[in-house]
Amino acid sequence: MTNLTLDEKKALIRMALEAREQAYAPYSDFMVGAALRAEDGRIFTGCNVENSAFTPTSCAERTALFKAVAEGVTRFTDIAVVGARRGEVNKQITSPCGDCRQALFEFGGPELNVIMAKTPDDFIERSMDELLPFGFGPSNVAGNKAVEGGGGERIFCQNW
Ligand SMILES: [Zn+2]
Repeated sequence: MTNLTLDEKKALIRMALEAREQAYAPYSDFMVGAALRAEDGRIFTGCNVENSAFTPTSCAERTALFKAVAEGVTRFTDIAVVGARRGEVNKQITSPCGDCRQALFEFGGPELNVIMAKTPDDFIERSMDELLPFGFGPSNVAGNKAVEGGGGERIFCQNW
C-alpha cells in the first residue's frame, strides 16, 4: 500500500520521465519509462528495450523490476509509468501490459500502487488488484519450496 505524499508521487513520475529518455525503441518509436519504489524507499528505474527479433523485447516496468530483484530488492509499494511516441509529450495514460502486471504482482501483490501519468501533474492511480483482479501469485503455489522457507516462512512474498 502506498504511503507516498503528492510531492513524492510527482518525483516518482519525474524519474519515470527521465528513464523514458533512455528507451531503446527504434522499431515502435514508443518510448516508455518506469520508476519502481521499493518498500525501503529505494527507487529503480527502467525503460523499454526493444530488439530486432522482437520477442526478447523488455518493457520499462520489467526492466526496473528485474534491476531491483538483481540487487536483492523484492518488496515494492509504488510504480510510476509513462509512455509516448518519440518526440511527443505524454498525451495519454500508459498502463502496464499484461506480462508486466503479472511480473509486478509477484513482488508487489494486489496492493501495489500503479501511477499512470501524462505529466507529474496529470496522473491516475490504481491498485494492482484493480489492474489484475484475482491475480495469480506466490500463495497460489503454496507448498512449493520456491515460495516457502524451511520453517514455513515465506521467502519473498508478502501476505497475498
Ligand atoms: Zn509490459
